[in-house]
Amino acid sequence: MNPNRYDLLIMGMGPAGLSAALFARRMGLNTIVFGDIPGGILYMLNDLADFPGFPDGISGIQFGMLALQQAQAQGAIFPMARLQKLSFSEPLFTGIDTDARQYTAPAAIIATGRTPKKFPEIKDNVKGIHFCSVCDGPLYRNQDAALAVIGGDKIAAQHALTLSKSASKVYLVCRDRAFTMPAIYESQIEEQPNIIPMRETEVIGIKGADQVEALMVTTKESDKQEVAINGVFLAIGWLPNTQALEMPVETALDSYLKTDKNLMTSHSGLFAAGDVRDTDMFSVLTACADGARAAQYAAEFLFKLET
Ligand SMILES: Cc1cc2nc3c(=O)[nH]c(=O)nc-3n(C[C@H](O)[C@H](O)[C@H](O)COP(=O)(O)OP(=O)(O)OC[C@H]3O[C@@H](n4cnc5c(N)ncnc54)[C@H](O)[C@@H]3O)c2cc1C
Repeated sequence: MNPNRYDLLIMGMGPAGLSAALFARRMGLNTIVFGDIPGGILYMLNDLADFPGFPDGISGIQFGMLALQQAQAQGAIFPMARLQKLSFSEPLFTGIDTDARQYTAPAAIIATGRTPKKFPEIKDNVKGIHFCSVCDGPLYRNQDAALAVIGGDKIAAQHALTLSKSASKVYLVCRDRAFTMPAIYESQIEEQPNIIPMRETEVIGIKGADQVEALMVTTKESDKQEVAINGVFLAIGWLPNTQALEMPVETALDSYLKTDKNLMTSHSGLFAAGDVRDTDMFSVLTACADGARAAQYAAEFLFKLET
């Protein structure tokens, strides 16, 4: 038998992909999982405080490593490589990894998550623009730095709270009148004297040719105002990671993958789990649940193919 032939290909090693791997193996599927970061975007999380079973919280990296170990112990294969392409030619999906190795399977789960949106018209080489406060916040320690977080949701809140430990000031800039974060974060932010919430404030530009110098904003009171900063962390939206898919698949707003009640996409045999799909909640818990359900429905799909 072809050694690169599996029952199930999983793209993504975040909570959705790792949970799918665990459940697929427990249902006896010969499973391979592609990705290069155990836990996916969880490396950005200092403290996962809203996943049941961890009353003292757990770091995202630790959670990812434990989930990886659990799936490995059940026999899932992890080549630690990303998939460049996933295509389909009846009756098999073919994945090609970054070393051009090919793998095939009659079913696949895409659990590739999403990527933060960049600020429009800002060059990539400008220093001081960041997406991960856990990774890049420490760069500003002991420097009397003023930082800004743009966004108003739970992720923006976590960035602001993380950065408040290394910066002297953190502006939390949100265009709406109210933040969309859970109340617990709002009260933590209020208690943090060096976080300065700026509601109803629209960022219209970031000043600085090589290094971020200031945010250009408009507020209810002023047409244009500059806020001097040393760095900015963006939490302004996301785009799903679907670039590797080489087959037509129906999508919803912003290109999130549409799925049916069994988490199957419009392409038969291709399931989607976690943040990459058109979900109403982007969280570790729902990503894990999606992964488990996608694995179960993939197993049922494969069983029907055989009978
Ligand atoms: C700063 C921050 C704080 C957060 N805080 C919380 C919180 O407190 N509680 C909570 O529940 N949720 C939180 N979240 C959200 C949570 O992390 C996500 O909802 C969850 O990680 C989604 O899991 P996922 O497996 O769908 O995707 P991801 O975790 O994004 O994992 C997908 C992985 O697939 C990889 N990938 C992409 N393309 C390919 C490819 N072609 N081949 C292989 N791999 C690929 C991606 O690089 C990524 O590593 C937070 C997110 C951020 C950014």
